[in-house]
Amino acid sequence: MLPMPGCCWLCLMPLALHQHGICSFCYRQLPRHPAACPRCGLPAVCRTEQCGRCLRRPPPWQALCFVSGYQPPLSLLLTQFKFHRTTALSVMLARLILLSWWHERRLRPLARPAIIMAVPLHQRRAWRRGFNQADLLAHLLAHGCGSDYQPQALRRVRAGNVQHQLSASARRKNLRGAFRLEIDVRGRHIAVVDDVVTTGSTVGEISRLLMAAGAASVQVWCLCRTL
Ligand SMILES: [Zn+2]
Ligand SMILES: [Zn+2]
Repeated sequence: MLPMPGCCWLCLMPLALHQHGICSFCYRQLPRHPAACPRCGLPAVCRTEQCGRCLRRPPPWQALCFVSGYQPPLSLLLTQFKFHRTTALSVMLARLILLSWWHERRLRPLARPAIIMAVPLHQRRAWRRGFNQADLLAHLLAHGCGSDYQPQALRRVRAGNVQHQLSASARRKNLRGAFRLEIDVRGRHIAVVDDVVTTGSTVGEISRLLMAAGAASVQVWCLCRTL
C-alpha cells in the first residue's frame, strides 16, 4: 500500500481535507465493536456502564478508548506504520483515536487529560526500530486536544521477556518494576497511549504506577483493543 498525497489511505479517493488521511465513507466502514465496556474495552451488553468483569476486578485505569478490534484495515495500516515511519499515516491514526475519544465523551463524562504519555519501548527495541510508534501518536494526540505531551514521563527500566508467550499472571510478574515514572502527576488527569492493547497488563502496570503516584485518573487510549 503506497501513500498518495491528498488521497484516502484505504480507497485512494481524493480527499477534500488531505490531512484527514481517510474519507468519510471508509471511516464509517471501519469495524467497531457493537458494544464495549467503557472501562476495559471488551465486548459487553452496555456501553455506558462497566461490565461484570470490571465490577468484580476493576482494572487500574478508569476508562479505555479505542477505534476497533485488531483486524483489517487498521491492523494492516498499523503494520505499515510500524515498519515505515510514515508521518502522514500517524496523523490519520491519531485522528481516529481522537474521534473515538470525542465520541465516547458524548456518551459519558471523561476528563480532558492534562498530560498525555506513551507506553515506552525499551531503549534496545526503540533503537532497533528507530522510533516508538506510541510516542508519535501521543505527540499528535496532545496537540489535538491541547494537553501537555510528556515524552520523558515514563522510562522502561527493564526489557522483560517477550510478553505474548506468557500467561496473564506471568505477564504481570514480568512487568513488575519494569517502568519508572519521571514526572509529578499528583492531582492530574492522565491519558496513556499505545497502538494495541491486548491483555492490558502493560497499560495496567503503568496505570497502577500513576495512581500510586497520586494521579487523579488514568485513561488508556489505543487504536486496537483485542481479547
Ligand atoms: Zn476512502
Ligand atoms: Zn469491563
